[in-house]
Amino acid sequence: MNYQKPKGTADILPSEIAGWDYIETVAKKELAKYGFKEIRTPLFESFDLFSRGVGESSDIVSKEMYDFRDKGNRHLALRPEGTASVVRAYVENKLYAPEIIKPVKLFYKGPMFRYERPQSGRMRQFHQLGVEVFGSKNPATDVETIALAFKLFNSLGLKELKLLVNSLGDSQARVVYRQALIEYLEPFKEELSKDSQIRLYKNPLRVLDSKDKIDKEIVKNAPSILNYLSEDSKRHFSEVQKMLEALNIPYEIDTTMVRGLDYYSDTIFEILTTSKNFGSNTTICAGGRYDGLVEEMGGPETPGFGFAFGLERLLLIMKKEEITIPSEKVLDVYVVGIGEETNLETLKIVEALRANDLNAERDFLFRKPKAQFKTADKSNARLVITIGSSELAEKKARIKNMKTGGEQSISLDEIYSPSFKNIFNLLTSD
Ligand code: ATP
Ligand code: MG
Repeated sequence: MNYQKPKGTADILPSEIAGWDYIETVAKKELAKYGFKEIRTPLFESFDLFSRGVGESSDIVSKEMYDFRDKGNRHLALRPEGTASVVRAYVENKLYAPEIIKPVKLFYKGPMFRYERPQSGRMRQFHQLGVEVFGSKNPATDVETIALAFKLFNSLGLKELKLLVNSLGDSQARVVYRQALIEYLEPFKEELSKDSQIRLYKNPLRVLDSKDKIDKEIVKNAPSILNYLSEDSKRHFSEVQKMLEALNIPYEIDTTMVRGLDYYSDTIFEILTTSKNFGSNTTICAGGRYDGLVEEMGGPETPGFGFAFGLERLLLIMKKEEITIPSEKVLDVYVVGIGEETNLETLKIVEALRANDLNAERDFLFRKPKAQFKTADKSNARLVITIGSSELAEKKARIKNMKTGGEQSISLDEIYSPSFKNIFNLLTSD
């Protein structure tokens, strides 16, 4: 029987883990500076959470959900995104309680599931890292959170980045704008792409960010949402822009950017790479404000702001940009045992080294010394300890610095002593 992984999924192989670890390590360092704490929620939730939270007309809910009924006939879905779950957890665990410091800053990372047509950078199981901030309507929250995303990608070595911002206003503004947009688009109905024709009445804002060429032309002269904003929303958006300028974060306003999730209000943003290496303008990160969502999910009125980025896409971009990922931890010591009679001593040595906080490995296949040295070399071992039958009899071993080639004798007592760590440091300090 030949098994294959499901379409749109990937095995992340040991050779690829360094990249994933690197992003996580850099991200965690930045997130800590901003006071974000991790939250972990289930990989599946009730279907209704997403249809209500993300929006029934969104692509995610209408086309891409992995939903199923469990043996108790509950309608469940694998999470397609993180925000709805985090909001649910925020409400269910009463993280809005007065004794908890506001704003509450949370981040999550992990797999998301969407039934999409798989292609490069688009998978059915993929990974996102996202943040959510609860309890601040201050535009400074929008800007510091955008700054965090920007800095994170900068620290990862991505330089050619573009920040797009837009405002969707409040729900009242969107109702009025929606009507204006439908009126503008209706005369072009026959020319619009099939998808956009369907969206025209269901979710006309989505026509704005259609990727179709003709749609794009039609949309160019569409009314701008910015002309429909309330005074409060206008003020909020202009504050956001002022603050971005004050922090020297370059941005562009793109009134056709709307985002595919229904919960956004006021500020939304995307960070794209403009690198030619990556067919220009690929979105890495997207997010925005969602002031109505917590209440919609049964919590108290609480403003929210968040973003998410895809790790697979980020890794692809880093690879295309030839960003070097710091290599994984090397092997400290490889122990070469010559002859079956050293089998037990070799076992004891690697175990003693590991107890001394060193990474240690040995041969298990009774191979010739030459082959074992080759493995030590391939594993980037810093030291090699060699023991054969004569060394065993004398309670000694040979120790070799793989970088300098320097070799000397060492007693087994020294190897087994806790002070071997000092010897190791001394020998490898060059
Ligand atoms: P797109 O327009 O590319 O479909 P989206 O609007 O669906 O993106 P979001 O839901 O905002 O994307 O997700 C944020 C990020 O998650 C994206 O910018 C991308 O990096 C990543 N992402 C989304 N869907 C996928 C997927 N199917 N496979 C891999 N990464 C994805
Ligand atoms: Mg999508």
